[in-house]
Amino acid sequence: MSSTTNTDTLIVGGGIIGVSIASQLGDRDVTILDSGAPKYGTSIGNAGHVVVSHAQPFAAPGMIGMGAKSLLAADGAFAFGTKLPANAAPWIAQFMRNCTKANVKKFTPGIHSLLRSSAELIKASGITTTSTSTWEVFTAKNSEQRARAEFEHLTHLGIQARVVDRSEALETEPSLYNRVQAVVELGEDFGLDPHELWQHLRNVNPNLTFHSNQSATQITRERQLYRVITAAGMEFTARNIVIAAGAWSREVGKLLGINIALMAAKGYSVTAPMGSADSEFPNSVHPMILSDEKTATNPLGEWLRMSARFELTNPNDRELNHKRVQHLYTRAATVLKLPPIPTDLAALSPWTGLRPASADGAPFIGPVPNLPGVYLATGHGMIGTALSLGTGDLIARHLEHQKISWSELALSPR
Ligand SMILES: Cc1cc2nc3c(=O)[nH]c(=O)nc-3n(C[C@H](O)[C@H](O)[C@H](O)COP(=O)(O)OP(=O)(O)OC[C@H]3O[C@@H](n4cnc5c(N)ncnc54)[C@H](O)[C@@H]3O)c2cc1C
Repeated sequence: MSSTTNTDTLIVGGGIIGVSIASQLGDRDVTILDSGAPKYGTSIGNAGHVVVSHAQPFAAPGMIGMGAKSLLAADGAFAFGTKLPANAAPWIAQFMRNCTKANVKKFTPGIHSLLRSSAELIKASGITTTSTSTWEVFTAKNSEQRARAEFEHLTHLGIQARVVDRSEALETEPSLYNRVQAVVELGEDFGLDPHELWQHLRNVNPNLTFHSNQSATQITRERQLYRVITAAGMEFTARNIVIAAGAWSREVGKLLGINIALMAAKGYSVTAPMGSADSEFPNSVHPMILSDEKTATNPLGEWLRMSARFELTNPNDRELNHKRVQHLYTRAATVLKLPPIPTDLAALSPWTGLRPASADGAPFIGPVPNLPGVYLATGHGMIGTALSLGTGDLIARHLEHQKISWSELALSPR
């Protein structure tokens, strides 16, 4: 066993949430432990959408029907993995109970306020973001009515949106086939490269020490301090502990006797090389949410990232199913002018990541009751990149005993 390192705040997990928190704690001595090289976490290969429009928690009325329909489809967006962990059944039951108007009312203001502050902080950070807003694209029947309903719903929530005329959409977005029926512009949403954001935030705080390949395996409380021991035998003491271990937060919580209702939800992405604006296969101008294909797409320079699927599974499941990869690409290719699918799928850099999904669809951000100095920053589900810097700012305010609004308090683990 090596000697003990003392630190003010120890963050378990170096994904986008861990580095966002560290970036907001410039005056403190901060240590991050990550069990891998964090690129194997969820924060690097995701779609990179910053979605201020996604203010409603995932558990909302209508989700059960949508999920059931998807489960019946051969390759639906929502699915159950083959090796579900023991906590799956109670999580699913809890999620179904939470698909209510009351759940939406409770969490929407807090999520919305964090998404807005995150988007502002991300823009102010100077990293590259798309100059165009995100488009929600509809292709199925009744598209026009659905687009209008989406526009009205977003406007009602106070979110900037605009119905884009179909001919304007086809003229200004060269990557779309004319199969497209309707488009809603999500005025405050944009895209970025999640790897660039992660790398930028990792380097912001000069007082941050980042340890890769250090898995926290033991946490004990000793008077005012917490002692953390890693699998590789490193030892730390800290005044504050932040659990930001993504889909593995439940396992880390257990080390302190906390039961975090979390499930891992596997998603896929591919990143395809694309052509210039006047080529046969032009890259998109806009980040897009292909509503009927349940696929998110995002132009990253000369590449197009595409991602889909929400498959409940266990936190060790990183299996890359080739059929799913093919399906993701070919489905997007019905809406976007993509090159023929390559025979060697490795050319698409296929990737899977595990979203940390909470049973009410809202993240846990704040102090843990009865464990002074322990904070949770997890459960960000489908919108961890979008909520990243807002989460960092909120944890920093909790640590500094600064003002927290009522809507933000709703996200507290209590
Ligand atoms: C396909 C896909 C597309 C997505 N698209 C978007 C999008 O467009 N926009 C958006 O906002 N979000 C998106 N998301 C969601 C987003 O990626 C996640 O919400 C976010 O990455 C979660 O970040 P995190 O830091 O909590 O977790 P992670 O990035 O998973 O980081 C957790 C870290 O904790 C470490 N860890 C685990 N256990 C321990 C331990 N015992 N000790 C030390 N370290 C430990 C892990 O190694 C890992 O690096 C997408 C996700 C997927 C899968």
